[in-house]
Amino acid sequence: MRRSNNQYIGRFAPSPSGGLHFGSLVSAIASYVDARQHFGQWILRIDDIDQPRTKSGAAESIIHTLNAFGFKWNNSIQWQSERISQYEQVIQELKDRNAVYICACSRKEISKIAASGVDGMIYPGTCRDQGHKENSSRAIRIRTNSERIYFSDRVFGHFEQNLETLSGDFIIRRADKITAYQLAVVVDDYLDQVSHVVRGADLLMSTCKQIYLGGLLGYPTLDFAHTPLVINKSGKKLSKSDRAFPVNPDTPLTALIAAWRFLGQQDITPHVQTVEEFWDEATTKWSIQKVPADYP
Ligand SMILES: [Zn+2]
Repeated sequence: MRRSNNQYIGRFAPSPSGGLHFGSLVSAIASYVDARQHFGQWILRIDDIDQPRTKSGAAESIIHTLNAFGFKWNNSIQWQSERISQYEQVIQELKDRNAVYICACSRKEISKIAASGVDGMIYPGTCRDQGHKENSSRAIRIRTNSERIYFSDRVFGHFEQNLETLSGDFIIRRADKITAYQLAVVVDDYLDQVSHVVRGADLLMSTCKQIYLGGLLGYPTLDFAHTPLVINKSGKKLSKSDRAFPVNPDTPLTALIAAWRFLGQQDITPHVQTVEEFWDEATTKWSIQKVPADYP
């Protein structure tokens, strides 16, 4: 389905498993400045659906840092943890349409038989036609097919996947009853009327799954751009547990300019002294064509 108006709504959706790290700042800047350049809106959503991984105080710390860095969001902050009934409604709809099934496999069982795919193990469809009943320790999987899912990423260009062979039927509700990220993010972007997603390339390999789910649910098509990942010295993606590049809310300009350079952008002039001046100049200079399409 195509969106009926041309309104730009972007978003930043950090998960509160720690404070804001340099890698998240890079994607936050790209998403924010792209929205500003399009005279769009920008939404802040806290992806706290995975409660076991949520660290107490992390959301507040992220919000504090974003404020100190001069980010301004429209509307009130959205929280995934407040949308569980909406996710459940969608899961029920998919159940009613027989688009999903219950999987009784343990991780261990799957790892014995499954090959490694682009985004985790390729589930071989063991439980597809078993008619398992739901119980307290069973996941729900969506049926995939061999249809080619493709999109044009504004940074990485044309991208396509055959989900059946590259990931297999994937989980939309985990065995611990938590809505899987893949489904939650699709429902969220729909509810928030997001039109443009600018986020880190760690989600590039999940995008086709999300496009597939959005298509099944009849949601409007989104426009995607993925920003390069910040890699630490050992070659791993920088995570929240990695303290190598903490962003300090007391010296916002230093971190903003470092992240701006990482995005391959034209230098900010030395006379810029405040975050407000930074955002004004960054909005004028932003060029998504300059963002390097580096994928580890
Ligand atoms: Zn199974």
